Amino acid sequence: MLRITNTLTGKKEEFIPITPGEVRIYVCGPTVYNFVHLGNSRPAITFDAFRRYLEYRGYRVILAQNFTDIDDKIIIKANEEGVDALEIAERYIVQYWKDSLALGIRPANFHPRTTHFVDEIIEFIQDLIDKGFAYVVDGDVYFNVSEFKNYGELSHRKLEDMIAGARIEPGEKKKSPEDFALWKAAKEGEPFWNSPWGPGRPGWHIECSVMSTCILGETFDIHAGGADLIFPHHENEKAQSEARHGKTFARYWMHNGMMRLAGSKMSKSLGNFITIKDAVKKYGKDAIRLFIFSKHYRSPIDYSEEMLAENLRAVKRVNAILRDFEKSEGDKPLFSKKTPFVKEQIERFIEALDDDFNTPKAVALMFDLINKMGETKNRNRKLEIYHLIRNEFGPVLGILEKDEEVSANIDGLVKLLIEIRAEFKKDKNYEKADQIRDRLNELGIKLMDTPEGTKYTF
Ligand SMILES: [Zn+2]
Repeated sequence: MLRITNTLTGKKEEFIPITPGEVRIYVCGPTVYNFVHLGNSRPAITFDAFRRYLEYRGYRVILAQNFTDIDDKIIIKANEEGVDALEIAERYIVQYWKDSLALGIRPANFHPRTTHFVDEIIEFIQDLIDKGFAYVVDGDVYFNVSEFKNYGELSHRKLEDMIAGARIEPGEKKKSPEDFALWKAAKEGEPFWNSPWGPGRPGWHIECSVMSTCILGETFDIHAGGADLIFPHHENEKAQSEARHGKTFARYWMHNGMMRLAGSKMSKSLGNFITIKDAVKKYGKDAIRLFIFSKHYRSPIDYSEEMLAENLRAVKRVNAILRDFEKSEGDKPLFSKKTPFVKEQIERFIEALDDDFNTPKAVALMFDLINKMGETKNRNRKLEIYHLIRNEFGPVLGILEKDEEVSANIDGLVKLLIEIRAEFKKDKNYEKADQIRDRLNELGIKLMDTPEGTKYTF
């Protein structure tokens, strides 16, 4: 029985999907305006693995994750560079895909973008106005929080406290400090769309309400994201959606803890971030994923170079053991889930992850098994563990899979051929050197001679 902590109730609850056998999940995605730092990868990696686990448990998963491609930060960056806001968004969406690929994050089923849903956003806002939950002031539209009686339910806050903590920023025309913008009238030099209230653009929160319900339905199973989004973003999404549709928005809310750097949140605005690109180069995806899975997803995690390096050493050690076994035994397909030992390990793995996706426990089980594999003389036991790690548990967490080892070997082989070719060139044997280049080219591996040496791409 899968149990997850639901932020809405604050309790660990049995997960029961709306449609048996199917899970519909929405995860808030990035605002695309800059290189993404390692802290941002935590929700993506966590919910990528959670999705894999649901699939492992036999569910059909429909996952949607958005790109916020219009926002104050994007507009500021575009103005700084003197380019169109969409150009900034496109650039960092491409970067997002590169980072995701490098981290072994599978694409969601849907990656909606805000600017593709402006008509639906306008329709949604108009409906909120018609139903008395929103009001227009000089081309801005605001959500009237006092009209929605369950406001504060998700973040467990009282309306009075929120009013005390909220401010009306200069230029905002809202009636009450806790109200929030659904539509912002266009300012000079900003991109805009025409609407019944004049030219403008969507506020931040409304896009997720619109895209999630358009894709997954008015009520869906799980809404997920970082804990920093609980208030106000998710509270507002919930208010808008439930005000419009008069029914539960998401049945379960899952939130991952933040990644911190020396006790503070890792963030672009604090300037203390490490890019994913740099982190992958230094530690590789498995060490990064293991580092993230080593803490329960709801707890904060402290960024630590030492911990990443330690995880990298662990990954290397495990892969060496698995590779040695492959060399001596081959990876015989002699895998049966029926042996009592294998069945017991699978049960333990499921027991850990069924308990609010307890990855530290699942990872500990994997390392226990690896240690057993190193110790035992029993070949059949080694084979069982080999398959459990490579083909059963590894793919669920997206780590220690064999393909990666193979591609690492290909890297080594291409480099070896480049070295041999360089020697042929040195000996002025251009015919043989060209032969290597041409044959690699036929295999789809392109060599490029640059001042820094020969490089290659697949
Ligand atoms: Zn969102």
